[in-house]
Amino acid sequence: MSDETSVGAVDVTYRGIFQKNLAGVITKELVKAARREDKVGGTVQRYGDSPERNGIPAKQFAVIADDMDSLRVEMTKYEPENVVVVCVMDDTLTKGVESWAWYGVRPINLNLAPGGTLLVISRRSPEELLHWIPRRTYDWNLAILPGEPSFGGLWVYNDDGTDYRTMGAVARVTGGLVSLDSLIAEAGSGKDGDLRAAQLREGYESVTMHPVGAGVGAEDTYVPVEMPGWTQMREGLVVPAVEVGKNNTLFMKYTTRTTRPLVKFDACVKCQICYTVCPDECFIPTPEGHYDINYQHCCGCGICAQSCPVSGCIEMVDETVFESNEPLHSVFESDPAAYEELRAEKVAQAGGANPHYGIY
Ligand code: SF4
Ligand code: SF4
Repeated sequence: MSDETSVGAVDVTYRGIFQKNLAGVITKELVKAARREDKVGGTVQRYGDSPERNGIPAKQFAVIADDMDSLRVEMTKYEPENVVVVCVMDDTLTKGVESWAWYGVRPINLNLAPGGTLLVISRRSPEELLHWIPRRTYDWNLAILPGEPSFGGLWVYNDDGTDYRTMGAVARVTGGLVSLDSLIAEAGSGKDGDLRAAQLREGYESVTMHPVGAGVGAEDTYVPVEMPGWTQMREGLVVPAVEVGKNNTLFMKYTTRTTRPLVKFDACVKCQICYTVCPDECFIPTPEGHYDINYQHCCGCGICAQSCPVSGCIEMVDETVFESNEPLHSVFESDPAAYEELRAEKVAQAGGANPHYGIY
């Protein structure tokens, strides 16, 4: 926390369900450790969908304050202000996050305070990540904690230490919003204290910091969306049914995917299985019997790739190698060889297709 303010918030941006436990552990442990320093804190969740769906970007905040009055004021806000660090649990989220209730796609660093830190779990370089992260009008920091996205989600807690390593990194990059010592002391009061302490120290020591100047990064194309009042909000729990072959326009997908399906049209045997199994009705029949993909509605679940009977015909490819959501069959139609070249290039750029379908 700076001298001017007595409140600082940690934003944990994660993929719904898969990483929910992870976000919960991080925010709660940060608050508990802060209390050892005579600070006060609370946590709050925000969803991009209702109910939360697999892969949907979601947020959980830890708000930490020097005094209870400051905390109360901050906790009444729709989203906490003075976000000193945004923890990005899956680096494909650097392409942006759907905002609450699907009103537009927002930059991953939209609410980051000047001088704050975007902490990304990634094996990518700062330059690769900045290809997607929009520029700000102020200086900020990009911190990278080496690692793969962990999907310790709602049903299965994946005890790979990502949560405690992230907390250790938060202690380092915030310069003591919560100290490493307090985190270790808090972890020591629970199960596996020595293991947690080692994970906290590892995160603290392995995170790297990269200052980013004002104006550096991707073009910021975000246009603030006019939010409706509470009484005009779209349906949440009740979603209107759509006709077969049409898509629900309330559920456009832009940043819900870690990977997207690519079809090798010249290997397709036109069996129709992908069209039948896709839960979001993304496949568009073409006159010659292929199935094109509407990426505006694809959530990247990978069911189509898993179901296709032709080996390698549908491959799941890392989302960050794609710039556009446009369907691709028209490229195949006009030049099959050029399409195959493009497809192979994307797979190579991604370091190969993902054998685990919709998740890493
Ligand atoms: S990954 Fe395949 S099955 Fe899943 S939503 Fe996208 S097109 Fe449909
Ligand atoms: S499941 Fe595979 S082979 Fe069958 S239509 Fe879809 S892409 Fe073609």
